[in-house]
Amino acid sequence: MAQWFTLKEQEPEALLFFRMGDFYELFFADAQAAAHALDIALTARGSHDGEPIPMCGVPVSAAPAYLARLIRRGFRVAVAEQTQAPQKGQKGPLPRAIVRVVSPGTLTEDELLEAGRANLLVAIAPSPERSKAQQLGAAWIDISTGAFETATIMPDALPELLARLDPAEILSVPDLIPPEHSERLAPVPGIPSLDSARTHIARAFEVAQIEALGDFTPEHIVACAMVLGYVQRSQAGALPRLSRPTTQGLDGVLGIDPATRHSLDILRTRDGESKYSLLGAVSRTATAAGSRLLAEWLSSPLTSASAITARQQAWLWLNEQTPLNDTLALIFRRTPDIARALGRLSAQRGQPRDLAALRDALIAADDITAALQPLCDETTPTAIRELFGALYGRAEGLLNRLRSALAEELPARLDDGGVIAEGYDAELDHFRTLRNNSRRVIAAMQGELSTKLGINTLKIKHHAQLGYVIEVPATHGAKLRDNPALSFRQGTASLARFSTEELAELDQAILEAAENASRKERALFDALCTQALETPALEDVAAALAQLDVLRSCALLAAGGNWCCPTMTEGTDFTLTACRHPVVEAALAESGSADARFIPNNCSLEPDQRVMLLTGPNMAGKSTFLRQTALAVILAQAGLPVPAKNATIGVVDRLFSRVGGADDLARGRSTFMVEMTEAAAILNQAGPRSLVVVDEIGRGTSTLDGLAIAWATLEALHGHLGARTIFATHFHELTALTDALPRLQACTMAVREWRNKVIFQHEVKAGAARKSWGLHVARLAGVPSNVIDRASRLLTTLEQQHAQSRPSLPLFDMAFSEPAAEEMPLDAVPISQPTDALREKLDALDPDSLTPRDALATLYALKELA
Ligand code: ADP
Repeated sequence: MAQWFTLKEQEPEALLFFRMGDFYELFFADAQAAAHALDIALTARGSHDGEPIPMCGVPVSAAPAYLARLIRRGFRVAVAEQTQAPQKGQKGPLPRAIVRVVSPGTLTEDELLEAGRANLLVAIAPSPERSKAQQLGAAWIDISTGAFETATIMPDALPELLARLDPAEILSVPDLIPPEHSERLAPVPGIPSLDSARTHIARAFEVAQIEALGDFTPEHIVACAMVLGYVQRSQAGALPRLSRPTTQGLDGVLGIDPATRHSLDILRTRDGESKYSLLGAVSRTATAAGSRLLAEWLSSPLTSASAITARQQAWLWLNEQTPLNDTLALIFRRTPDIARALGRLSAQRGQPRDLAALRDALIAADDITAALQPLCDETTPTAIRELFGALYGRAEGLLNRLRSALAEELPARLDDGGVIAEGYDAELDHFRTLRNNSRRVIAAMQGELSTKLGINTLKIKHHAQLGYVIEVPATHGAKLRDNPALSFRQGTASLARFSTEELAELDQAILEAAENASRKERALFDALCTQALETPALEDVAAALAQLDVLRSCALLAAGGNWCCPTMTEGTDFTLTACRHPVVEAALAESGSADARFIPNNCSLEPDQRVMLLTGPNMAGKSTFLRQTALAVILAQAGLPVPAKNATIGVVDRLFSRVGGADDLARGRSTFMVEMTEAAAILNQAGPRSLVVVDEIGRGTSTLDGLAIAWATLEALHGHLGARTIFATHFHELTALTDALPRLQACTMAVREWRNKVIFQHEVKAGAARKSWGLHVARLAGVPSNVIDRASRLLTTLEQQHAQSRPSLPLFDMAFSEPAAEEMPLDAVPISQPTDALREKLDALDPDSLTPRDALATLYALKELA
């Protein structure tokens, strides 16, 4: 227990898996927590301070499955192994040490990881410089692949970055991290100083000065040192192979805030599933690495038209190479995940199949370049030629070595032996021959002895403690005891075991040869691992294979028909012709119902019609239309095909989508508060290059409040913010604003009435909704008919009253009487404030035409007005 306490003190926050023979045992509170989480029996063993010690255990062979469950439930686990094999006659406990701390952000095992998803450990550090107290450093590592990136950001960009990275684990000080991520915070000892951080990084990458690695800010440096320190601690001091940190400018990436990500189900739906996500609908990748890269593309679309076009050209070209695509399909099917294999090798957890993965991936790379070579000339898109370069003849030395070194049939574990091929190493072959020959001699000996002694049931067997022994039934045992050539070793009720001098010698020889063979095999394996880890080309090959898989996925998607390659411009164009929602479309197709055809819609937000006001009843398809427009932008800027007949998109810098329920009640904010917070985020950040799609701003409050807020928001978006916008609303009154706001177009979801029923046509057309059809939708949903009838009568009365009171409402007058509403500053809308003379004067000012003297006079005049 003393040993347990010492180890527990090293990792107090983790459950301690304490190795005892074939089990990992847990004690005290760890045992209680684990027994509960794993649903395994809690027992007790010995006592401490007069109390029994709670204990539970899991077999070592089944540990990965239990670890996976604990990690999924948010635990961290410190694994303490016996660091010495038990010696004969040894007294006292075996030495033990923590060899690893398993936490969500430091996993390398396939069993614990999702193949198609990155697993990021992220550090967020405050600036070490007082003058820049605002800035934050961010650094993130995927230890399963070795990727390492860093960025400097302002605190208000943090939620967006975290939403994009979706980290498995976060290292930071708790008050920096938004509450929705606090569950993923790991305990960290503190923030390192700048000096110690510099030294740490330099040592980790074996350079004298970190400047050798690139140009880093103090914020980068501290954040990088934090992740490095944590990874090192989790691997008991050993640092796995990591790529050198690269700085990530966040400028070239489409801004997608967390609420937008949340509403669009880009990589996963809100319940964590990936099937009905955008990724699920567009992915045609064949490899896990490709699937991870596609997820990265979709979560960080680009903002440079030329970079997007480069991706498009690559898949458009691939799209035309039918035979090549067939070949690639076959090759990718047998292309393993090199990045993750390298991750395990560098964390010293490599197994034979990881080396085989490298070999097979390099063979795949060779096959791919062979298929590409005849097709590549100066007309081939640059991206394809670059891929060719990254794959062609790389790591040849390593491939040849792996080809000759690895046996044809590989065992699951190195300890099982038989990893290295025969003929690769003379010494290993020699030990193996000795071992095998001796075994053959033993087999012959069994035959001889059984004839000589006249016992045909005599067997020579291997026994765990005794080594090779002669085994005969007990009835023959007594007879043989007198034989001077045999020495009696052990007897049971049914059998007797003997040894001979010759057998003992052979046993020893076999043991030695087997030990020598396995030592030699391990040394050869280690040398291969070292060579692999020292081959930087493998990273290029891994990256190029993943990229080619993603580009091929795009080509396949485009080849399915009905997907187009969007034209990207640097302007603010926006036209989607016959655009669809890829996920809803796929779900409808899957449902198999006859009328389940997705209706495509056009969407034009060209500069002169930049803002669309969309009305229509519930269930008519408004949210779907809003989302499909936002998704088209994400797909286009990720470089992917778009589900439309044609698309022209002026690159969007920030995307805002507020569609669907504001379900934040759990965090103590009312629906209306959440809605307003989100509206505020848009009004404070949207600009002329942004795209805003919003659904029902202002629905969470009284009708008049809501209408006023929706109105003012719409004016702001149409006016000084200048964003391309689709604004869906239930306030049909707002349609009147089309007269006042020149760039506003009114559209509505087509609805047909038939025998007093409503049919949703899911078609967007010009105009405004005449009715809300709320009662029809309520009837569809199964609201009892007596309630519907009563509501219907009430509605008639309310509508009459509303019509009578209408002239007294100032709202409608305003819309018609204020033609320049959109030109006016928001706070000058006459509903609340009189005209502001100071502002008027300011607006009329033209500073460029003023003489210094006029300027001074004007200043005094303005002061008068204030
Ligand atoms: P709203 O936001 O107007 O209440 P939704 O966008 O949620 O309506 O759409 C309701 C349902 O109508 C969707 O679940 C989908 O099945 C169907 N739908 C929406 N748009 C289309 C379309 N363009 N074509 C076919 N079905 C559609």
